[in-house]
Formats: sequence, C-alpha cells, structure tokens
Amino acid sequence: MRFTKVQRAEGPAYGILEDDRIELISGLPWIEGWSRTGVAVDLADAVLLAPVAPAKIVAIGRNYAAHVAEMSFDPAAEPSVFLKPSSSLLDPDGTVVLPPLSMSDHVEHEAELVVVIGREARDISEEEALSYVLGFTCGDDVSARDLQRSDPHITRAKGFDTFAPVGPWIETELDLASARVIGRVNGQVRQDQPVSDMLFDVPRILASVSRWTTLFPGDVVFTGSPGGSGRLEPGDQVEIEILGLGTLRHSVAAAQV
Ligand code: MG
Repeated sequence: MRFTKVQRAEGPAYGILEDDRIELISGLPWIEGWSRTGVAVDLADAVLLAPVAPAKIVAIGRNYAAHVAEMSFDPAAEPSVFLKPSSSLLDPDGTVVLPPLSMSDHVEHEAELVVVIGREARDISEEEALSYVLGFTCGDDVSARDLQRSDPHITRAKGFDTFAPVGPWIETELDLASARVIGRVNGQVRQDQPVSDMLFDVPRILASVSRWTTLFPGDVVFTGSPGGSGRLEPGDQVEIEILGLGTLRHSVAAAQV
C-alpha cells in the first residue's frame, strides 16, 4: 500500500495511492482506525507533501563502505546517529535553498532510503524492529560539506531549512532485499547501490536508536548515503529513486541575499 499526504484547500490530508488516483482517508496512516472517505483526486492534479509528521528526523551516517571511503571517515562500530531539525523537511518537488556563500559554498546530495515509524518504539530488539515500521520512502540528506568539516558539530551542516527532502509517498511493502537507492542530478546517475550494501541494516539501526531515544509514529530515520554523493549547484534538478518505491524530485536554488 502507498500512503500519500496531499495539500487540500481545507488543509493537509492523507490518502492511499492506487493506479494514479489518491483516495483520501480519515485519520493518520500510523493510527489504527483510519478509514477510506470515498473522496479521490488524480495524482497528476495533487500537490504532494512530505508524507510524514516527524517529531524528529533521525539520520544514520557512515552506513555504506563506498561513502565511508570517499569521505575518508573511519568505519563506525555502532550505527553513527545524528538529528536533523524538523524545520529542514522539504515536500516533494520542492526547492533546496543553498546557504549564503558567506556560510557555505559546498553543498552535496545524499540519496537515502528513509524509514517511517508506525508505532512508538523504545528499546526494541532487532527481531521485532520491522513491526514498528509503517513503510519506507525516499530522502535526500542534503549536507554542507565545508561546515561538516569545520564546525565542531554537524548540526548546522545537516540542518538548514529545506535540507531534508522526503517523499513522494510511503510504500508499506518494499522488499529491502532487492531495493536499490539511485541518485541522479540533471539526469546523470551519481549514486546507485543496493540497500543490502548497508553496513548496519534497518533492524539493527532501529534497535540501536531506540536504546537511547523513543521513536514516535510519524518520525523518520534516514539510513545513510551510498557512495557517489556530489556537489549541488543552483538550477540542479535532483532525483532520488528507490526501485520498487518511486522517485522523489527536488530542485536547487541559491540563497536570496
Ligand atoms: Mg546521510
């Protein structure tokens, strides 16, 4: 099943995507008791929103050997975790706004599989972890590389407004064993790796994170970038595709200063 979030005149609403039509639901996808409303809109006419409601955006770094190597990082013994502010969330087809050049002149894309949490998870085991997942979506962990290197913490490098594009919808039945993450910029493939290349898989990530923080329904977990992350310039068109799920698109613009 695919859950979407759409902008309606009366406000945001969730829906189920079936055959290019979105049937709106009452309630939230992660709260039992939601129901179909019978009201449908064409996907082509819908304004899609990031299909999540994160109290926090969790992100894992250093999770593909190729990316660890290109960043000259040391491998992590445990999932390496950080947070992105919820204000960095960007809707599908949105615009990543680069920081003013006086703050950063080197921003990169990171195509990632994103987990959407379905029920409250605290101190869960790897064995039960996937039962806390509602589904998966695409994300771009946009990163200011120069600040990532020079700031004492990576909060600012990872946390600018618009630095967390997420969408286009939640796929509840993604086959992680065969899923691939692909990142394209202006039609050119820069990243393309199977999810199975992760150093720490999704159950391991969720078990590790839930040992120190409670994951809430609607929270999201970025699972790390494959190799091939690269520089973004104003005017770039970025696609994050997960085979079997869909494609998230965003553009890139310079700061208005
Ligand atoms: Mg990342």
